[in-house]
Amino acid sequence: MDPLHIAFFGATNSGKSTLVNAIAGQEVSLVSEKPGTTTDPVRKRIELPYGIGPAVLVDTAGYGDEGTLGAERERLTRSVLDSTDVAVLLRSGHPADAVWEEMLGRAGIPVVVTESPAGVETTLQRIVQVLPREEKRFLTGNLVRPGDKVVLVMPQDSEAPKGRLILPQVQVIRELLDRGCIPCCCTPDTLEKALECRPALVITDSQVFRQVNAAIPADMPLTSFSILLAAQKGDIRTFVEGAGAIDRLQPGDRVLIAEACTHVPDTEDIGRVKIPALLRKRADVRVEIAAGNDFPEDLSPYALIIHCGACVATAHLVRSRIRKALLAGVPITNYGIALAKLQGMLERVVLP
Ligand code: SF4
Repeated sequence: MDPLHIAFFGATNSGKSTLVNAIAGQEVSLVSEKPGTTTDPVRKRIELPYGIGPAVLVDTAGYGDEGTLGAERERLTRSVLDSTDVAVLLRSGHPADAVWEEMLGRAGIPVVVTESPAGVETTLQRIVQVLPREEKRFLTGNLVRPGDKVVLVMPQDSEAPKGRLILPQVQVIRELLDRGCIPCCCTPDTLEKALECRPALVITDSQVFRQVNAAIPADMPLTSFSILLAAQKGDIRTFVEGAGAIDRLQPGDRVLIAEACTHVPDTEDIGRVKIPALLRKRADVRVEIAAGNDFPEDLSPYALIIHCGACVATAHLVRSRIRKALLAGVPITNYGIALAKLQGMLERVVLP
Protein backbone atom coordinates (compact mmCIF):
# COMPACT_ATOMS: atom_id res chain seq x y z
CA MET A 1 0.00 0.00 0.00
CA ASP A 2 1.33 3.47 -0.91
CA PRO A 3 1.92 5.50 2.28
CA LEU A 4 -0.42 8.46 2.74
CA HIS A 5 1.44 11.75 2.22
CA ILE A 6 0.27 14.22 4.89
CA ALA A 7 1.77 17.68 4.36
CA PHE A 8 1.69 20.50 6.89
CA PHE A 9 1.19 24.02 5.55
CA GLY A 10 1.08 27.36 7.30
CA ALA A 11 2.86 30.69 7.54
CA THR A 12 6.50 30.62 8.56
CA ASN A 13 6.80 29.86 12.27
CA SER A 14 3.11 29.03 12.68
CA GLY A 15 3.96 25.87 14.61
CA LYS A 16 4.07 23.28 11.82
CA SER A 17 7.33 21.71 12.94
CA THR A 18 6.11 21.56 16.56
CA LEU A 19 3.00 19.67 15.45
CA VAL A 20 4.93 17.33 13.12
CA ASN A 21 7.38 16.51 15.92
CA ALA A 22 4.52 15.90 18.36
CA ILE A 23 2.81 13.49 15.92
CA ALA A 24 6.08 11.71 15.14
CA GLY A 25 6.97 11.56 18.85
CA GLN A 26 10.49 12.72 18.01
CA GLU A 27 12.32 15.73 16.63
CA VAL A 28 11.81 15.39 12.87
CA SER A 29 12.15 19.10 12.20
CA LEU A 30 14.21 21.71 13.98
CA VAL A 31 11.97 24.01 16.00
CA SER A 32 13.11 27.56 16.56
CA GLU A 33 11.64 30.90 17.55
CA LYS A 34 13.49 32.32 14.57
CA PRO A 35 11.13 32.56 11.55
CA GLY A 36 11.96 30.39 8.53
CA THR A 37 14.01 27.72 10.26
CA THR A 38 12.62 25.02 7.94
CA THR A 39 13.60 25.45 4.28
CA ASP A 40 13.50 22.21 2.26
CA PRO A 41 10.45 20.04 3.00
CA VAL A 42 11.31 17.49 5.71
CA ARG A 43 9.79 14.02 5.38
CA LYS A 44 9.27 11.39 8.04
CA ARG A 45 7.84 7.95 7.35
CA ILE A 46 5.66 6.72 10.19
CA GLU A 47 2.84 4.30 11.09
CA LEU A 48 -0.17 6.26 12.33
CA PRO A 49 -3.08 5.12 14.56
CA TYR A 50 -6.88 5.43 13.98
CA GLY A 51 -6.63 3.18 10.92
CA ILE A 52 -4.51 5.68 8.95
CA GLY A 53 -1.62 3.20 8.63
CA PRO A 54 1.65 3.93 6.83
CA ALA A 55 2.15 7.63 6.19
CA VAL A 56 4.78 10.20 5.29
CA LEU A 57 4.64 13.41 7.33
CA VAL A 58 5.87 16.34 5.25
CA ASP A 59 6.90 19.48 7.11
CA THR A 60 6.99 22.36 4.63
CA ALA A 61 8.94 25.59 4.73
CA GLY A 62 5.71 27.58 4.80
CA TYR A 63 4.73 30.88 3.28
CA GLY A 64 4.42 34.56 4.02
CA ASP A 65 8.10 35.27 4.56
CA GLU A 66 9.70 38.32 2.90
CA GLY A 67 12.64 38.55 0.49
CA THR A 68 14.37 36.17 -1.90
CA LEU A 69 14.68 33.44 0.72
CA GLY A 70 10.97 33.77 1.52
CA ALA A 71 10.09 33.37 -2.16
CA GLU A 72 12.33 30.32 -2.38
CA ARG A 73 10.68 28.78 0.71
CA GLU A 74 7.27 29.36 -0.84
CA ARG A 75 8.42 27.73 -4.10
CA LEU A 76 9.65 24.68 -2.18
CA THR A 77 6.35 24.55 -0.29
CA ARG A 78 4.38 24.61 -3.56
CA SER A 79 6.52 21.76 -4.91
CA VAL A 80 5.01 19.52 -2.23
CA LEU A 81 1.44 20.00 -3.49
CA ASP A 82 1.56 17.46 -6.29
CA SER A 83 2.42 14.62 -3.94
CA THR A 84 0.09 15.59 -1.07
CA ASP A 85 -2.78 13.24 -0.25
CA VAL A 86 -4.02 15.20 2.79
CA ALA A 87 -3.06 18.73 3.87
CA VAL A 88 -3.02 20.12 7.40
CA LEU A 89 -3.21 23.92 7.25
CA LEU A 90 -2.20 25.74 10.41
CA ARG A 91 -4.01 29.03 10.46
CA SER A 92 -2.12 31.71 12.38
CA GLY A 93 -3.93 34.84 11.25
CA HIS A 94 -1.56 35.48 8.33
CA PRO A 95 -3.32 37.03 5.29
CA ALA A 96 -1.89 34.24 3.04
CA ASP A 97 -3.71 31.54 5.04
CA ALA A 98 -6.92 32.08 3.04
CA VAL A 99 -5.00 32.06 -0.26
CA TRP A 100 -3.43 28.71 0.56
CA GLU A 101 -6.66 27.22 1.82
CA GLU A 102 -8.32 28.17 -1.45
CA MET A 103 -5.37 26.82 -3.50
CA LEU A 104 -5.43 23.46 -1.67
CA GLY A 105 -9.18 23.19 -2.23
CA ARG A 106 -8.75 24.01 -5.92
CA ALA A 107 -6.17 21.25 -6.21
CA GLY A 108 -8.72 18.79 -4.84
CA ILE A 109 -6.59 18.04 -1.78
CA PRO A 110 -8.57 17.16 1.38
CA VAL A 111 -7.66 19.80 3.98
CA VAL A 112 -7.75 19.85 7.77
CA VAL A 113 -7.73 23.51 8.80
CA THR A 114 -6.59 24.00 12.35
CA GLU A 115 -5.33 26.70 14.66
CA SER A 116 -1.87 26.59 16.15
CA PRO A 117 -1.14 25.01 18.55
CA ALA A 118 -3.20 21.99 17.57
CA GLY A 119 -3.29 18.76 19.57
CA VAL A 120 -2.00 15.48 18.13
CA GLU A 121 -5.12 13.40 18.84
CA THR A 122 -7.50 16.00 17.43
CA THR A 123 -5.39 16.50 14.31
CA LEU A 124 -5.17 12.76 13.59
CA GLN A 125 -8.90 12.26 14.15
CA ARG A 126 -9.67 15.11 11.81
CA ILE A 127 -7.32 13.65 9.20
CA VAL A 128 -9.32 10.39 9.38
CA GLN A 129 -12.53 12.35 8.74
CA VAL A 130 -11.26 13.86 5.47
CA LEU A 131 -9.44 10.77 4.16
CA PRO A 132 -10.51 9.84 0.63
CA ARG A 133 -12.58 6.65 0.81
CA GLU A 134 -10.43 3.99 -0.82
CA GLU A 135 -13.03 1.30 -1.24
CA LYS A 136 -11.87 -1.62 -3.33
CA ARG A 137 -12.79 -0.74 -6.91
CA PHE A 138 -13.32 -3.26 -9.62
CA LEU A 139 -11.74 -2.37 -12.97
CA THR A 140 -15.01 -3.29 -14.62
CA GLY A 141 -17.02 -1.33 -12.01
CA ASN A 142 -20.76 -1.76 -12.45
CA LEU A 143 -20.49 -2.78 -16.10
CA VAL A 144 -20.86 -6.52 -15.45
CA ARG A 145 -22.79 -8.93 -13.22
CA PRO A 146 -22.06 -12.57 -12.31
CA GLY A 147 -22.81 -14.88 -15.21
CA ASP A 148 -22.26 -12.18 -17.87
CA LYS A 149 -20.34 -13.17 -20.97
CA VAL A 150 -17.73 -10.58 -21.88
CA VAL A 151 -15.84 -10.44 -25.18
CA LEU A 152 -12.26 -9.17 -24.94
CA VAL A 153 -10.70 -7.98 -28.21
CA MET A 154 -6.91 -8.16 -28.04
CA PRO A 155 -4.96 -7.67 -31.28
CA GLN A 156 -1.78 -9.75 -31.30
CA ASP A 157 0.12 -7.50 -33.72
CA SER A 158 3.73 -6.31 -33.77
CA GLU A 159 3.04 -4.13 -30.72
CA ALA A 160 1.90 -7.04 -28.55
CA PRO A 161 4.71 -8.53 -26.47
CA LYS A 162 5.81 -11.95 -27.67
CA GLY A 163 4.31 -14.92 -25.88
CA ARG A 164 2.26 -13.06 -23.26
CA LEU A 165 -0.65 -10.71 -22.71
CA ILE A 166 -0.15 -7.20 -21.36
CA LEU A 167 -0.93 -6.48 -17.72
CA PRO A 168 -4.32 -4.70 -18.12
CA GLN A 169 -5.60 -7.63 -20.18
CA VAL A 170 -4.45 -10.16 -17.59
CA GLN A 171 -5.97 -8.07 -14.78
CA VAL A 172 -9.34 -7.79 -16.52
CA ILE A 173 -9.50 -11.52 -17.33
CA ARG A 174 -8.66 -12.41 -13.73
CA GLU A 175 -11.21 -9.95 -12.37
CA LEU A 176 -13.97 -11.25 -14.66
CA LEU A 177 -13.26 -14.78 -13.46
CA ASP A 178 -13.32 -13.61 -9.83
CA ARG A 179 -16.65 -11.88 -10.42
CA GLY A 180 -18.23 -15.01 -11.86
CA CYS A 181 -18.28 -13.71 -15.45
CA ILE A 182 -17.36 -15.67 -18.56
CA PRO A 183 -14.57 -13.96 -20.53
CA CYS A 184 -14.26 -14.79 -24.21
CA CYS A 185 -10.94 -13.64 -25.71
CA CYS A 186 -10.45 -12.95 -29.40
CA THR A 187 -8.50 -10.86 -31.91
CA PRO A 188 -10.25 -8.48 -34.36
CA ASP A 189 -10.11 -11.30 -36.93
CA THR A 190 -12.07 -13.72 -34.75
CA LEU A 191 -14.46 -11.14 -33.25
CA GLU A 192 -17.40 -12.17 -35.40
CA LYS A 193 -17.21 -15.73 -34.12
CA ALA A 194 -16.74 -14.53 -30.52
CA LEU A 195 -19.90 -12.43 -30.72
CA GLU A 196 -21.93 -15.62 -31.08
CA CYS A 197 -21.81 -15.90 -27.27
CA ARG A 198 -24.08 -12.78 -27.15
CA PRO A 199 -21.92 -10.81 -24.71
CA ALA A 200 -23.20 -8.31 -22.14
CA LEU A 201 -20.10 -6.19 -22.74
CA VAL A 202 -17.25 -5.87 -25.25
CA ILE A 203 -13.87 -4.66 -24.00
CA THR A 204 -11.39 -3.79 -26.72
CA ASP A 205 -7.89 -2.56 -27.15
CA SER A 206 -8.54 1.11 -27.89
CA GLN A 207 -6.46 1.05 -31.07
CA VAL A 208 -9.15 -0.97 -32.83
CA PHE A 209 -12.15 0.95 -31.44
CA ARG A 210 -13.64 1.89 -34.79
CA GLN A 211 -13.15 -1.54 -36.28
CA VAL A 212 -14.79 -3.22 -33.28
CA ASN A 213 -17.58 -0.65 -33.13
CA ALA A 214 -18.38 -1.30 -36.79
CA ALA A 215 -18.54 -5.03 -36.16
CA ILE A 216 -20.87 -5.07 -33.14
CA PRO A 217 -24.55 -4.05 -32.78
CA ALA A 218 -24.97 -0.32 -32.06
CA ASP A 219 -26.61 -0.99 -28.69
CA MET A 220 -23.99 -3.44 -27.42
CA PRO A 221 -22.02 -1.87 -24.52
CA LEU A 222 -18.43 -1.19 -25.56
CA THR A 223 -15.42 0.04 -23.61
CA SER A 224 -11.63 -0.31 -23.70
CA PHE A 225 -8.91 -1.66 -21.44
CA SER A 226 -7.38 1.83 -21.16
CA ILE A 227 -10.68 3.35 -20.12
CA LEU A 228 -11.08 0.75 -17.37
CA LEU A 229 -7.53 1.43 -16.20
CA ALA A 230 -8.04 5.20 -16.39
CA ALA A 231 -11.03 4.90 -14.09
CA GLN A 232 -9.08 2.83 -11.59
CA LYS A 233 -5.79 4.70 -11.64
CA GLY A 234 -6.78 8.24 -12.44
CA ASP A 235 -9.93 10.27 -12.42
CA ILE A 236 -12.19 9.36 -15.31
CA ARG A 237 -14.28 12.53 -15.07
CA THR A 238 -11.22 14.79 -15.23
CA PHE A 239 -9.92 12.77 -18.17
CA VAL A 240 -13.21 13.00 -20.08
CA GLU A 241 -13.41 16.73 -19.38
CA GLY A 242 -9.74 17.14 -20.42
CA ALA A 243 -10.40 15.37 -23.73
CA GLY A 244 -12.75 18.24 -24.59
CA ALA A 245 -9.62 20.37 -25.12
CA ILE A 246 -8.88 18.31 -28.24
CA ASP A 247 -11.69 20.19 -30.01
CA ARG A 248 -10.10 23.53 -29.07
CA LEU A 249 -6.53 22.80 -30.22
CA GLN A 250 -5.00 25.46 -32.47
CA PRO A 251 -2.03 25.24 -34.87
CA GLY A 252 1.20 25.66 -32.91
CA ASP A 253 -0.30 24.53 -29.57
CA ARG A 254 1.98 22.34 -27.48
CA VAL A 255 0.63 18.94 -26.42
CA LEU A 256 2.51 16.90 -23.84
CA ILE A 257 2.45 13.12 -24.07
CA ALA A 258 3.37 11.90 -20.58
CA GLU A 259 4.61 8.34 -20.28
CA ALA A 260 4.84 6.93 -16.77
CA CYS A 261 7.78 4.65 -17.57
CA THR A 262 10.63 4.56 -20.04
CA HIS A 263 10.29 1.91 -22.73
CA VAL A 264 11.67 1.29 -26.19
CA PRO A 265 9.02 2.78 -28.51
CA ASP A 266 7.59 0.63 -31.29
CA THR A 267 7.12 1.94 -34.82
CA GLU A 268 3.36 1.83 -34.11
CA ASP A 269 3.75 3.30 -30.59
CA ILE A 270 0.41 4.62 -29.38
CA GLY A 271 1.73 7.72 -27.59
CA ARG A 272 4.54 8.60 -29.99
CA VAL A 273 3.03 7.67 -33.33
CA LYS A 274 -0.71 6.97 -33.35
CA ILE A 275 -2.04 9.74 -31.08
CA PRO A 276 0.23 12.46 -32.59
CA ALA A 277 -0.88 11.45 -36.09
CA LEU A 278 -4.56 11.66 -35.11
CA LEU A 279 -3.99 15.03 -33.37
CA ARG A 280 -2.27 16.50 -36.41
CA LYS A 281 -5.23 15.57 -38.56
CA ARG A 282 -7.17 18.11 -36.47
CA ALA A 283 -4.56 20.86 -36.01
CA ASP A 284 -0.87 21.33 -36.67
CA VAL A 285 0.14 20.95 -33.01
CA ARG A 286 3.60 20.45 -31.49
CA VAL A 287 3.73 17.13 -29.67
CA GLU A 288 6.36 16.68 -26.95
CA ILE A 289 7.14 13.49 -25.05
CA ALA A 290 8.06 13.23 -21.36
CA ALA A 291 9.01 9.70 -20.30
CA GLY A 292 9.42 8.32 -16.78
CA ASN A 293 10.45 10.93 -14.24
CA ASP A 294 10.87 13.67 -16.85
CA PHE A 295 7.37 15.05 -16.20
CA PRO A 296 7.96 18.82 -16.51
CA GLU A 297 7.78 21.09 -13.47
CA ASP A 298 6.25 23.89 -15.51
CA LEU A 299 3.13 22.72 -17.32
CA SER A 300 1.83 26.15 -18.20
CA PRO A 301 3.10 26.14 -21.84
CA TYR A 302 0.89 23.16 -22.72
CA ALA A 303 -2.61 23.30 -24.18
CA LEU A 304 -3.22 19.67 -23.28
CA ILE A 305 -1.55 16.76 -21.46
CA ILE A 306 -2.26 13.21 -22.60
CA HIS A 307 -1.11 10.68 -20.03
CA CYS A 308 -0.32 7.06 -20.79
CA GLY A 309 -2.40 4.19 -19.43
CA ALA A 310 0.02 3.92 -16.48
CA CYS A 311 -0.08 0.11 -16.63
CA VAL A 312 3.01 -0.24 -14.46
CA ALA A 313 2.63 3.00 -12.49
CA THR A 314 0.87 3.64 -9.20
CA ALA A 315 -2.48 5.43 -8.84
CA HIS A 316 -0.65 7.85 -6.55
CA LEU A 317 1.65 8.94 -9.37
CA VAL A 318 -1.19 9.45 -11.84
CA ARG A 319 -3.28 11.37 -9.30
CA SER A 320 -0.37 13.62 -8.38
CA ARG A 321 0.14 14.43 -12.07
CA ILE A 322 -3.56 15.14 -12.50
CA ARG A 323 -3.36 17.48 -9.51
CA LYS A 324 -0.32 19.21 -10.95
CA ALA A 325 -2.11 19.74 -14.26
CA LEU A 326 -5.22 21.10 -12.53
CA LEU A 327 -3.08 23.45 -10.45
CA ALA A 328 -1.49 24.75 -13.65
CA GLY A 329 -4.92 25.06 -15.28
CA VAL A 330 -3.95 22.63 -18.06
CA PRO A 331 -6.50 20.04 -19.27
CA ILE A 332 -5.34 16.45 -18.82
CA THR A 333 -6.65 13.24 -20.35
CA ASN A 334 -5.22 9.82 -21.01
CA TYR A 335 -4.48 7.58 -24.00
CA GLY A 336 -7.72 5.58 -23.81
CA ILE A 337 -10.02 8.58 -23.46
CA ALA A 338 -8.04 10.62 -26.04
CA LEU A 339 -8.19 7.78 -28.56
CA ALA A 340 -11.93 7.39 -28.01
CA LYS A 341 -12.35 11.14 -28.52
CA LEU A 342 -10.09 11.31 -31.58
CA GLN A 343 -11.95 8.42 -33.18
CA GLY A 344 -15.34 9.99 -32.44
CA MET A 345 -16.12 7.19 -29.99
CA LEU A 346 -16.24 8.98 -26.63
CA GLU A 347 -20.03 9.29 -26.71
CA ARG A 348 -20.33 5.64 -27.73
CA VAL A 349 -18.26 3.94 -25.03
CA VAL A 350 -19.55 3.03 -21.58
CA LEU A 351 -17.58 4.24 -18.55
CA PRO A 352 -17.19 2.13 -15.40
S1 SF4 B 1 3.36 2.73 -17.83
FE1 SF4 B 1 2.62 3.98 -19.51
S2 SF4 B 1 4.39 4.27 -20.89
FE2 SF4 B 1 4.84 2.56 -19.51
S3 SF4 B 1 4.20 0.75 -20.68
FE3 SF4 B 1 2.47 1.32 -19.32
S4 SF4 B 1 1.19 2.64 -20.62
FE4 SF4 B 1 3.20 2.50 -21.62
